[in-house]
Amino acid sequence: MTALACPGCTGVRRDGQYLCGSCWSLLPHVARRALNRLDDDAFRRLRELRAQLAHGVPLNRIEITP
Ligand SMILES: [Zn+2]
Repeated sequence: MTALACPGCTGVRRDGQYLCGSCWSLLPHVARRALNRLDDDAFRRLRELRAQLAHGVPLNRIEITP
């Protein structure tokens, strides 16, 4: 198991996860559902998540285009 920096806090996330468990649990249900979908748009959704985190959007206000 590889520990990586969580982009949403100072904690660590596991390899293969976008966020640590506590950040992930704060995301709105619809955002989690969109991010869990692994298709051709998965990387675009990850970029949306990263961009909002970089702009300081609170985790519970993150919106991901499905
Ligand atoms: Zn985190």
